[in-house]
Amino acid sequence: MGNLLRDKTVIISGATRGIGRAIALELAGEGADISFNYLRSDSEAKELEERIGGLGVRARAFKVDIRDFEAVRAWVDDTMESFGRIDVVINNAGITRDRALAFMQPQDWHDVINTNLNGTYNLTRATIVGLIKQRSGVIINISSISGIRGLPGQTNYSASKGAIIGFTKALAREVAPYNIRVNAVAPGFIETDMLREMGGDYRDRIVKYIPLNRPGNAEEVARVVRFLATDEARYITGQAIVIDGGMSLV
Ligand code: NAP
Repeated sequence: MGNLLRDKTVIISGATRGIGRAIALELAGEGADISFNYLRSDSEAKELEERIGGLGVRARAFKVDIRDFEAVRAWVDDTMESFGRIDVVINNAGITRDRALAFMQPQDWHDVINTNLNGTYNLTRATIVGLIKQRSGVIINISSISGIRGLPGQTNYSASKGAIIGFTKALAREVAPYNIRVNAVAPGFIETDMLREMGGDYRDRIVKYIPLNRPGNAEEVARVVRFLATDEARYITGQAIVIDGGMSLV
């Protein structure tokens, strides 16, 4: 266990599975208390609370839809009451609804934008004033290489993830005077439920385009997020760090 985040509180969206869960565990491993939300995975939320508690820090799970601004605001208020402060904000909750644009229904578009992009606005807006008042903080947004390169079948997802990078850069400039850093990470193909839902055939086809010849894993993303969350990265802001095994070079 490290102590780079001792006495700090991390608030993270969508931590019951995949990348969010790995980030929550990684940052708890540096001594941070963790407040996280999720939508459906009750048993996974309980298991994660217990697992983090076993590391000797505090964890609280909140069943809060990231699309609902008022509910997110109440989650942030509860977190402040429980932990007394928020230091690191991680916008991770995200979904895909892949379909060629010619077949994409308004619901597919709105679900993805509301979760990925508006969810990022909701949690950041609900925490930013507190960070400004304390004159310190770190915000890390989980984008995707899909938001940089664009992937066919993902116009909705690429739009949401590209917008998150624009949001990251604009906010980084806005809040730098308050000693708040804002960065994004842009993972490539990471072995999680999201990737598994795309099917084995798709996975095999994609791996051919990855110079390091395999998908990444959630822990490999979490380690970069840990670096950005700590003072080790104190001179880095407004960046989107690609974690993709070289895929975006090809
Ligand atoms: P995942 O395994 O599908 O997990 C998604 C998490 O988000 C779950 O904890 C889920 O909660 C939560 N969530 C979804 N909708 C929510 C909502 N409306 N309100 C609250 N929580 C919600 O996904 P992942 O692969 O770990 O992806 C995490 C992030 O990384 C996403 O932003 C994704 O776009 C990004 N990313 C992933 C990859 C990849 O290859 N996997 C690549 C690049 C970027 P429940 O379990 O309760 O539903």
